Amino acid sequence: MQIEPFIAQSKPFIEWMLEWQAGLKPLPFESLIQNNDVQSVGIVSVDVIEGFCSVGPLSSPRVNRIVEPITKLFTLAWECGVRDIALTQDTHPEDAVEFAQYAPHCIRGTVESETVAAFKALPFFDQLTVIPKNSISSGLAPGFQEWVSARPQVQTWVVVGDCTDLCTHQLAMYLRLLANQQQQRGVRVVLPVNTVDTYDMPVETAKTLGIPPHDAEFLHLVFLYNMMLNGVEIVSEITP
Ligand SMILES: [Zn+2]
Repeated sequence: MQIEPFIAQSKPFIEWMLEWQAGLKPLPFESLIQNNDVQSVGIVSVDVIEGFCSVGPLSSPRVNRIVEPITKLFTLAWECGVRDIALTQDTHPEDAVEFAQYAPHCIRGTVESETVAAFKALPFFDQLTVIPKNSISSGLAPGFQEWVSARPQVQTWVVVGDCTDLCTHQLAMYLRLLANQQQQRGVRVVLPVNTVDTYDMPVETAKTLGIPPHDAEFLHLVFLYNMMLNGVEIVSEITP
């Protein structure tokens, strides 16, 4: 298909997605709580580590900008009594199979694989659960499904992190589809857009580097739409 007719055919849909994105509403924290129990709220943050924020070949200024709103969300949630917060994090061996798709990154023992400094500075950081992973899927990370299953009181999962179309999508879909498969009717998966982003790799830059391009705005939008389509609640932000 030629580009002009392709764009013309898809234009109403793209306009619809942009209007939908522009109309996303904030959600007050208390709206996350189910059964009058703050322990019904849990948070999973994926890949908010130095190697995607500030250091190394896959770090991105767009992704770095979500650190502050996530830190604020953690603080708000902790002050409200949330205690189930997990950080799933790329922690690759030196010969990771995934390096066939992405430049070597976030190797165990390097700065890139470290949790961002802003999280480490939180007074309750040592009470968060860090779960290493070796693929873009948190669901496949050893121990993650057990961590989720051990918390049946959590009925609202808040998903934050990067990248929208990669690990965040995999994580949100995993939690949503697990609840669907297990007939857990009350389970909600909520994604605040201000705590999620993806990296940008313009076509021209990608050509010189010999890697696939990656349009951040386009893929961010399409994957937010895809998660909404599948029952993930997309909100602009979570407010006090
Ligand atoms: Zn990785």
